[in-house]
Amino acid sequence: MALEEILKPQDYATEVHNDWCPGCGDFGILRTVQMALAELKLNPYRVAMVSGIGCSAKTVHYIKTYGVHTLHGRVLPVAQGVKLANPGLEVVAVGGDGDGMGIGGAHFVNAGRRNLDMLYILFDNGVYGLTKGQASPTLKLGVQTKSLAHPNINEAVNPIWLALAAGATWVGRGYSYDVKHLKDLIVQGIRHRGYAFLDVLQPCPTYNDINTKEWYGGEDRAETNGGRPLPRVYKLDGEGFDPVVHDSSEIELKASKALEKSLEWGDRIPIGVFYRNEHVSMYGDRIQQRIPTYFENPPAVQRIAGPHGEPLTDLTKLLGRLTIKPS
Ligand code: SF4
Repeated sequence: MALEEILKPQDYATEVHNDWCPGCGDFGILRTVQMALAELKLNPYRVAMVSGIGCSAKTVHYIKTYGVHTLHGRVLPVAQGVKLANPGLEVVAVGGDGDGMGIGGAHFVNAGRRNLDMLYILFDNGVYGLTKGQASPTLKLGVQTKSLAHPNINEAVNPIWLALAAGATWVGRGYSYDVKHLKDLIVQGIRHRGYAFLDVLQPCPTYNDINTKEWYGGEDRAETNGGRPLPRVYKLDGEGFDPVVHDSSEIELKASKALEKSLEWGDRIPIGVFYRNEHVSMYGDRIQQRIPTYFENPPAVQRIAGPHGEPLTDLTKLLGRLTIKPS
């Protein structure tokens, strides 16, 4: 497809039947990813979407790019593998909070250490929607959604705090019903040079009847905006918050301010960019220091077979080194 033909979000839509529940926050994220790809004029063959397991994981079927639907909790290892094998691709990983903060928690921490140039979007709704609404790792302690027999007995993981502690170099949070703002965040996350993590507050109207669109919109709050609801979500940049590390001497200061902001929850929930630091080396550059031809000749473009399918790799020497000789 010629680049000039793919400027509209609908050009990134597939014809696969969408079976998300009506009103699901996933729709806003799907739409904003398509809008962001169109704004960045990214040809579909230059983009790889990778997902884990869950309602959110179906996203890769609805976006016309390369797509890999992997195993529960394994979205980041696969996405990182895709990026390492073919660094010319824009890699966008997507998954739910159960997938990413539960079984995938260790991968989440180690992705921060590597700083691969990719974006990970977390669909954060506090429940395991695909399996009937059990409490997920981001549901707050004591909250009882309609699918729980008792209030949640565990403390919640804070994805923003964890991403910062793990070393992610761009950390943001969006809200799936604020489409324009979320699209801007996805564009920034893809453009960021390094590992970008975007937490998206994504109401699940089927199983989470606490953190709903109305709740985020502040409709239950006594405090109002001249008689109208005062939303809980507010924009960091609207309050002059500067997340950018302008030089390395600012890393500690900006990280601590971002951590402080990450703790806000309840009547005020910040969205926007918490932290951006492009003064950390990326994993691809670290590899290139060891293998100077890495970017010109990455694994994905190396020939592995001859014209008749015969393997081109000769393992004889390697196997020879591994042979155990009888004493
Ligand atoms: Fe969306 Fe929840 Fe339905 Fe899953 S169960 S599709 S998260 S509303």
